[in-house]
Amino acid sequence: MNGAAETDRLYYDNAYLRAFEARVIAVREDGRIALDRSAFYPTSGGQPFDTGTLNGARVTGVEVENGVVWHETDAAFQAGEAVHGEIDWPRRWDHMQQHAGDHMLAGAAWKLFGGVTIGLHLGRENSTIDMDLPGGRTHLTDEEINTLETLVNQRVQRDDPIRCWFPDPGELAILPLRKRPTVDSHVRIVAMGDYEMVPCGGTHPSSTGQIGPIKILSCAPSRGKMRLCFVAGMRAVQYFQQTAACAERTAAALSSGVTEAPEALLREREAHMARQKEASQRLTQAALEILRLQKKGSVYAAHLPFADRDILLSAAQELTKDPSAVVLLSCPGKNSPALLFAKGAEGSGDMAALLRACGGKGGGRPDLAQGSAPDGEALKKAAEMAEKQ
Ligand SMILES: [Zn+2]
Repeated sequence: MNGAAETDRLYYDNAYLRAFEARVIAVREDGRIALDRSAFYPTSGGQPFDTGTLNGARVTGVEVENGVVWHETDAAFQAGEAVHGEIDWPRRWDHMQQHAGDHMLAGAAWKLFGGVTIGLHLGRENSTIDMDLPGGRTHLTDEEINTLETLVNQRVQRDDPIRCWFPDPGELAILPLRKRPTVDSHVRIVAMGDYEMVPCGGTHPSSTGQIGPIKILSCAPSRGKMRLCFVAGMRAVQYFQQTAACAERTAAALSSGVTEAPEALLREREAHMARQKEASQRLTQAALEILRLQKKGSVYAAHLPFADRDILLSAAQELTKDPSAVVLLSCPGKNSPALLFAKGAEGSGDMAALLRACGGKGGGRPDLAQGSAPDGEALKKAAEMAEKQ
């Protein structure tokens, strides 16, 4: 049977209710059951469902349809059966912190920047709010993000009451809501301090202080809107613990204090690049000495086992300052030797053609060609061909 009376949603009155007694009022063919009353929150408003147990059976999904809350479990139940329900409280509490943090950010972004919330998602690791900003803006500056984050955390620390209720139509009509309701009846309102009031059927702590710290992780354009990514409560505490541990490990590796680590890293990188440049210059010099010793006519040719492509190029650039020079170089490559052929302004031959003629793969211009050799013989072949020209 699919029909059932609406479920009395116990979390509306008491979001802190962790256990309850109820009766099965309907069982579907797929085994899902409806209860006369339930503290299980069904997936809605961007907040995922609660897990927990019913008579010890695991609750693996909760949905609401026409006011009836359907529970998916890993056991079979009979209509009329009495059940004892228990909510997985750490999961629910985490959801309450993220969801209420979402309200705080949405309310503060509306006040500060006129941002209108159009979508919410409470994820396993972090949550997102999609917003329409005036003028089609799709991001906030770092300063604006800091201002937003500071304001919401100040409001959290005021520990203002959070109240949920079902106003009558007369009261509803005059409430200063941030968003108008999307349903006509049974509109539930949540109010946080004197700065956030919207229709919401979700679960919230009873005061803002219980939300804990709120940290914005990123702010980026998404499908023409602005997407804020954040964590709240214990997730924010874990985020601070992890980032602090990363910063401390980085600082220790750099032998610096945490606050000096970014500059220490930049100095380290500059020093590393300078050392690399110096090493590369020394290797280029060594390459030049070898090549000058092995010069035959105008042709410089050698396999340089200590070099890489950059060093080949530097050496070739230096040697082709001599207009008649032909420079044929190779060095170890990924799978086969790398080749670089170059010539001065008046050097003879077409380097790209020579590369192909010796069996090499790759290409380039008449004055500079690069590629790879099938074997160690290709360079010798190229040198012999070049010396004859
Ligand atoms: Zn809410």
